[in-house]
Amino acid sequence: NEEKVEKVMEQVESKDVKFVRLQFVDIHGFVKNFAIPAERLEDALVEGVLFDGSSIDGFVDIEESDMIAMPDPDTFAVLPWRPREGKVARIICDVYWPEGKPFEGCPRLNLKRVMNELAEKGYMMYCGPECEFYLLKQDPETGEVEAHDEGGYFDFYPLDRAEDIRREIIFAMEEFGLEVEMSHHEVGPGQHEIDFKFADAVTTADNVISFKQIVKAIARKHGLIATFMPKPIYGENGNGMHVHQSLWDPEGKENLFYDPDAEDQYYLSDTALYYIGGIMEHAHALCAVCNPLVNSYKRLVPGYEAPVYIAWSPKNRSAFIRVPAARGKATRIEYRSPDPACNPYLAFAAMAVAGVDGIENKIDPGDPVNENLYEMSEEERKELGIEHLPENLRDALEAFKEDEVVQSAFTDHIVEQWLELKWEEWSEYRERVTKWEIKKFIVY
Ligand code: GLN
Ligand code: MG
Ligand code: MG
Ligand code: MG
Repeated sequence: NEEKVEKVMEQVESKDVKFVRLQFVDIHGFVKNFAIPAERLEDALVEGVLFDGSSIDGFVDIEESDMIAMPDPDTFAVLPWRPREGKVARIICDVYWPEGKPFEGCPRLNLKRVMNELAEKGYMMYCGPECEFYLLKQDPETGEVEAHDEGGYFDFYPLDRAEDIRREIIFAMEEFGLEVEMSHHEVGPGQHEIDFKFADAVTTADNVISFKQIVKAIARKHGLIATFMPKPIYGENGNGMHVHQSLWDPEGKENLFYDPDAEDQYYLSDTALYYIGGIMEHAHALCAVCNPLVNSYKRLVPGYEAPVYIAWSPKNRSAFIRVPAARGKATRIEYRSPDPACNPYLAFAAMAVAGVDGIENKIDPGDPVNENLYEMSEEERKELGIEHLPENLRDALEAFKEDEVVQSAFTDHIVEQWLELKWEEWSEYRERVTKWEIKKFIVY
């Protein structure tokens, strides 16, 4: 660790960094941070920094609010949108009690715990998310928002008006050590996707958080709002966060999802099939974490490339789980239900635990379904035993409450806090009267 501290301090010196933001996330995945002058960083890296955690969602009551933020030197990055002189950097922290015990409400430490448990069972998880987002213009007077351009899937200028913004985002990602795989205009007007390279689950969750910070900061520089809200515009594609994932041996030498001899099961290993079975078995409860907002369920409707029915397929993009064509080391499944409003630390922990439960209990995912699921009749789906995903946050929370496996991905503290906050969100939503209701029902 000494070496790492030294390396960070060298960068602080050579890049003229004046302030360092120590950041972590609350239970929703929102970034929380405080700044320290660069002179304090060396001590902070060794001992951590005491802070008051009393007003943070999913943290603690006022009586016992002192916490330690312990910086992870591997996550040091200069914020390229802050001043060029007297630069600002950030470091991601884990949160501990002052006595040095891990804090049960720290999503990052919780994910590390789950990944350590996985390693003991002989698995290492790789994740590669595809985060979609919208760029919106806001009317300063009315506050109304609309899409920033009229482009659609893979469009080019003049339909795509965001090429310079994506370019700037990608340069910023490079400063954060995020390796970009590809970027493009997405299906919705003003909608985009930028994919970065897969990594282990903790690094990937860090990367999702960094990515969202970068996109929002660069959009703001251009006078726009970037949103990862699951369904910002009625009638258009929602924002998904498909998560490609595979299990490897703990040394990362062998992809356990690939079986070169399994011609009759698409060269997928039994491990892969059972993992799919586990995700399908726990699909409802997973939604409570991977589709965390009342708005998330407006994305999970037929006709917008988002999953609605719980089925897997080697090709079908309306399926809940798709298996991309690549084999060998690149063998993976793509879990398509999650959206980018999720807390990635919580979401990856839940997926891993559900998938491994499938392996341990040999849960059969059934046959793949290659027909378009949106176009199938209800009877056909019934015959094939295809269930649908929860239609609202309430149903997802009910499933989560009953699912001990998915709950085991979290500390009791996180489970309790999550249920409390999410039931609150549901009842707040339930009482609201919307513009649509007034328009439709005023004639009664
Ligand atoms: N936006 C779609 C979703 O909600 C995905 C579209 C795509 O990537 N082809 O998941
Ligand atoms: Mg994509
Ligand atoms: Mg996409
Ligand atoms: Mg995809």
